[in-house]
This record gives sequence, structure tokens and C-alpha cells, in this order.
Amino acid sequence: MNVIKTAEILCVGTEILIGEIVNTNAAYISSRLAEMGISQYHQGVVGDNPERLRAFLTSALSRCDLVILTGGLGPTYDDLTKETVADVMGRKLELDPRSLERVKSYFDRLGRKMTDNNIKQAMMPQGCEVFDNDVGTAPGCAIEDGESGKCVIILPGPPREMKDMFEKKVAPFLEKRREYVLYSESLNIFGMGESAVEDALREFMEASENPTVAPYAIDGECRLRVTARAKSREEGREKVKETEKKILESSVGPYVYGVDTTLEKTLVSLLRDKNMTVTFAESCTGGLLAGRLTSVPGASDVFDGGVVSYAERVKHDFLGVKSETLEKYGAVSAECAVEMAKGVRMFVGADLGVSVTGLAGPGGGTEEKPVGTVFIGVSDKSGERAVELHIRDNGREYVRNIAVKNALFEAVKNVGESVCTRSRGDDH
Ligand code: ATP
Repeated sequence: MNVIKTAEILCVGTEILIGEIVNTNAAYISSRLAEMGISQYHQGVVGDNPERLRAFLTSALSRCDLVILTGGLGPTYDDLTKETVADVMGRKLELDPRSLERVKSYFDRLGRKMTDNNIKQAMMPQGCEVFDNDVGTAPGCAIEDGESGKCVIILPGPPREMKDMFEKKVAPFLEKRREYVLYSESLNIFGMGESAVEDALREFMEASENPTVAPYAIDGECRLRVTARAKSREEGREKVKETEKKILESSVGPYVYGVDTTLEKTLVSLLRDKNMTVTFAESCTGGLLAGRLTSVPGASDVFDGGVVSYAERVKHDFLGVKSETLEKYGAVSAECAVEMAKGVRMFVGADLGVSVTGLAGPGGGTEEKPVGTVFIGVSDKSGERAVELHIRDNGREYVRNIAVKNALFEAVKNVGESVCTRSRGDDH
């Protein structure tokens, strides 16, 4: 059995070329190949045209070990993938009685009569391994050439059929032929931007070949993807954990709050471990913070409710923010944030109170307090504190989203004695 190290994906269909459909098959197969440690250097799309398909397939086979094709397996005259592939691989098509039976019974189940052109779907390249289609009619197959070591896999175009066949047939087929697996984890970082992380770890990253370490920014946060090449998933995981340990010991360590997680999941799990509850008093985020926390299943273990205190009257009447505080410092101030956090903690009877008050824009900013000025208040039994943020004015939703993340991060900091220690687990 030949080892498969490199692959190319070739999707057949004029409607992909003209932008009528998005090539989701290629995206799906690519990510699965990456997980299996099979490298991909090129990818292609050809219309329903046998000459161009033949030309692409021939050149792809000269570059890599495996070509996976999707589409063009239908019963009609313009579905020519199988015929062209068989020809390129020097095979004839022959009737596969088992596939014919399956196509027939598929139509029986639907209560429809099979037409003659469906027989074409049961014609398979000689000597191939047939992949049954459990959710449609067209079977797929793998054709291996012992001499050249090259392999071609043909899959149906409809994504539902392609995915079902990929998981049930192609993945086990490739499993037996792969050289190594890629195992990846992403460290979640908050409070340190992508370029600062890159700066702090540049030498370390350059020296890391296996595992590799790469930062990327997503949704206002930075992640560090650690990817190891190994013989097995377990070995890969071990290598990744060793590298993660070194990152946690670096200057980036204090900003790492988890592995493959989110701030809200981390907060729920930390609070649950400590048998603690949290509550929120929200002004400019208008309930987004509570919404984010309650998106985590089981949030009710740690959250009974909170207060959306948009107007000063509600801040005063429900949370007990003093009139003098509002008059002297304004609603967007550290003093107000602290009183909101304490007030909501007492009102709801939670262990931790977190508040958000700020200017999300577009209007309302002043020179002293421009749009993006946000205060997060935190209150627990040991006292109160406030954090002042100056969020970039990238629009109202951006400011609110970053304010929510900061509030979650401040809560995480209060609950976990060490965010670093927490990130060594991988179950949250
Ligand atoms: P059928 O038996 O349905 O004709 P087929 O294997 O011949 O299947 P195509 O005719 O090429 O597949 O495609 C059928 C449908 O599947 C397309 O109309 C499209 O909706 C979807 N499809 C095909 N290829 C892709 C792709 N690469 N990505 C996403 N969707 C696709």
C-alpha cells in the first residue's frame, strides 16, 4: 500500500466556475486533509469539459500522490468525470452489479422507476474500490495505480452525499495510507494584540519547526495556533502540550486564558469549579454581556440574572448609584462603574458583580471622554475596582463587543487565581 503525502482537489462543474455555487466541497475536503497531515499545494475547478478535465488531472497526478475529484457523477451525458478518470488511469468501465442493485433499491424506496441512464452510475472503473453512496445514487470510488503509486478518488458533487461518503469511506481509506497526522490547538489570548504576541515570541516561533506556532487575530482576540506533525494523535497532543508549556512560561503567558475555548465558557467553568455566581449591571452593552454568558449551556449554575441599567434613573433606583456620583463624575466613570458593580452584586445576591458603562457612539463623545471610553467595574467580597478602556471607535457594535470581552476577561481574572494554570486544562 502506498503512502499518501500530497493531494490535490479538483472540483468539476461549470456552475462553480461561473460563481453560481460556492465551492464548499473543496473547503470541507481541504480541512479534513489538513487534519490528516496530507499536504495540498494546488487546487482546481474545471467546467463540464472532458478535455480540460483530462489535462488538469494529468498534470495534477504528475505533482502529487492523490487527486480527489467531486462532481460530474450524475446519470446525464454531460457527467463525464468517471469516464475521463478511468481513461487517464488506463482502466475500462464495467458494470458493478452491487452498485446497480443499490441504485435500483434507492429508486424503489422513493417509489420511483429507475431510468436506463441511471445504469451509467453503476459503471465503475475496473479494479477500483467502490464507495457506496448511502444518501444518494452515484457511488464513488478510489483507483490506485500500484506501479506509479498514484491514486484518484471520485466523489459525488452534492455536499451532503460527498461529506457522508468522505467520512464513512474516504477517511478510513486514507487513514491506512497516511504518513503522519497534524494535531492542532489554539491558545486563547486576551489583552495582548497579534503584533505584540508576534514580537514577544518571534525567535521562539522561528525556531519552532515541529510543532509550528502561528498567531492570528479573530474577533478582537488573538490566538496562537500550535500544530504538531506526528505518527499519532496522542503523540501530536504531547508535542503540542510541551510547546504550550513554554509559551505559558513566556511573557505572553499571563494573557493566555484558555485552549480552544471562549471567554464566556472559561468564566462559566471557573465559576462552577469554585461554586461561585456572577451578575452583571450593563449600561452601554444593554444585555449583550448576559446574552454572551447565557449562550454557554449550563450558565444557570453560575448566573441568576442581572440588570440592564441604561438610564441614570435605573442606575440610581435599582443599583443604588448615588446621585452625587452621577452629578460629579457622570454615568461614564470609574466611580459609577464601581457603584453599579457593587449595587448589582448586593441586589442579586451574587459572589461577583461586574458592570459596564461607556460611550458606544456614534454620538455622545467629548474631548475628555471620546466614543470608546468604557469603564468596567468589578465587585466581590474583598472590595471593588474599576478598569478604564479606550476602545478604538470602529463603530457601535465593535465598541460594545470589545466592552463585553473585556468585562468577561476582568471577571475571569477575578475568579481564577492564575489564568495560566487554567489554560493548561483542555476541557473547557
Ligand atoms: P448528481 O447525481 O446530483 O448529478 P453529481 O455528482 O453529478 O451529482 P454535480 O451534478 O456536479 O454532481 O453537482 C450536483 C450539485 O451538487 C450541484 O448542482 C451543486 O448544487 C452541488 N455541488 C457540486 N459540486 C459542488 C462543490 N464543489 N461545492 C458545493 N456544492 C457542489
